[in-house]
Amino acid sequence: MGTEAQGPMAGRIPVSDETLANLFSSNEGLPCREGTALLRAFAEHRPSDFAFLTPSDLVDLSTSAFDGIVEWDSFSAHYGTCELCHA
Ligand SMILES: [Zn+2]
Repeated sequence: MGTEAQGPMAGRIPVSDETLANLFSSNEGLPCREGTALLRAFAEHRPSDFAFLTPSDLVDLSTSAFDGIVEWDSFSAHYGTCELCHA
């Protein structure tokens, strides 16, 4: 993990694994590393949208209200097809 420069334009608020994990049932857990990184990108770039994300959005990606958001589309395309995310 590299550390990004925190310039004056860096408005991102770091999102913890715990915050992300709360969206998944305890027996399923977090997605794979890549899936987690994609979800974190959505959370950090779109905090106002992420605030409305619920566990049900992750169960049925097809009904997501976040379609069209680049970061969400990247995550859902990965999460919907990645076997590691559902191992
Ligand atoms: Zn995955």
